[in-house]
Amino acid sequence: MSEIRYNRLEDNYVIIAPERLHRPDYMAWSRGDENTHSCPFCEGNEAVTPPEIYAIRESGSFADEKGWLTRVIPNLFKAVQIEAPYILKHEGANKVWDGFGAHEIIIDSPKHLIAMSEWSQATYFNWLKTIQTRVRDLRNDQRIAHISIFKNHGVSAGASQSHSHTQLIGLPIIPKNIQRKYERIYSHYMNSGRLLIDDIIEEERKDGRRIVIESDSFIAFCPFASEHPFEVMITSSTLSSEIDKIEDLKLEELSKLLYELFAVMEVQLGNFDFNISLSIAPMHKPFAVDVNFNNINLTCRFSIRITPRIYGHGGFELLTSTMINPVEPERCAQLLRESKEGKV
Ligand SMILES: [Zn+2]
Repeated sequence: MSEIRYNRLEDNYVIIAPERLHRPDYMAWSRGDENTHSCPFCEGNEAVTPPEIYAIRESGSFADEKGWLTRVIPNLFKAVQIEAPYILKHEGANKVWDGFGAHEIIIDSPKHLIAMSEWSQATYFNWLKTIQTRVRDLRNDQRIAHISIFKNHGVSAGASQSHSHTQLIGLPIIPKNIQRKYERIYSHYMNSGRLLIDDIIEEERKDGRRIVIESDSFIAFCPFASEHPFEVMITSSTLSSEIDKIEDLKLEELSKLLYELFAVMEVQLGNFDFNISLSIAPMHKPFAVDVNFNNINLTCRFSIRITPRIYGHGGFELLTSTMINPVEPERCAQLLRESKEGKV
């Protein structure tokens, strides 16, 4: 059984999860390896995984059989589990929770050898639609305070399975860095009546140098204080942070933008390792913690962050949480725009 422990000195949480130690090294099925018969995420191997929680399927196909486009299953090597008791315990002065939470795997495609830069617009749409459906369902669970949605691509990004997949972890606590971010967003709104991200978008439009692509409702830009080279943030200039409320037409618009963005990133970076994460505002008041953001969804926008993992980090970054980024975001955005315009 895993545990969520609170670090009193650093004011953050750690998940101690011994089950994660037994994860198999699926990276052996690397790109170019045709031997996918025993990959648990490939179409045809549904019986190897736990029963599916959700799937987008071709009509006439059945659960846990072939015929799916995306498939969601519980993580076999879970960091937290929904069956764990939902209680806070004290061990001396230390606070610890049994590892309650949701840990799900979204298998992005039935095909083994497909990178995100090779996805069609329809694959992006199905991916977003699947995430939307899972968030909508988990929002009904009052015990889950926050959901993290992320994808690791490549060894440098922490992937242990080469078949394209996304992870979802819902916890009874709000991770402290995320809590602090939403406190800033919330207090900015309470003080100015404006959304912090709207002010940032306005500044980015005025400057223009860091914008990569814009559509009616979305903007992709390299953040002013990017922590990594070619980091790109996609945010909506109109929609709230609730992905579960975004209509299909807007998800299609976002799918097109992601499709175009990954194409230009691949021109500049090749088949690069990256993390991608979606920001979902805290859902419910966290267990046993005095934080309550009333109507937090009105104060923030839906956003996605793509973080290429080109350079490793060392002791300074670990010690200070201050990244050293050797490439200016203005230069990265310029190169991405030039790729889009076919100037390379
Ligand atoms: Zn596979």
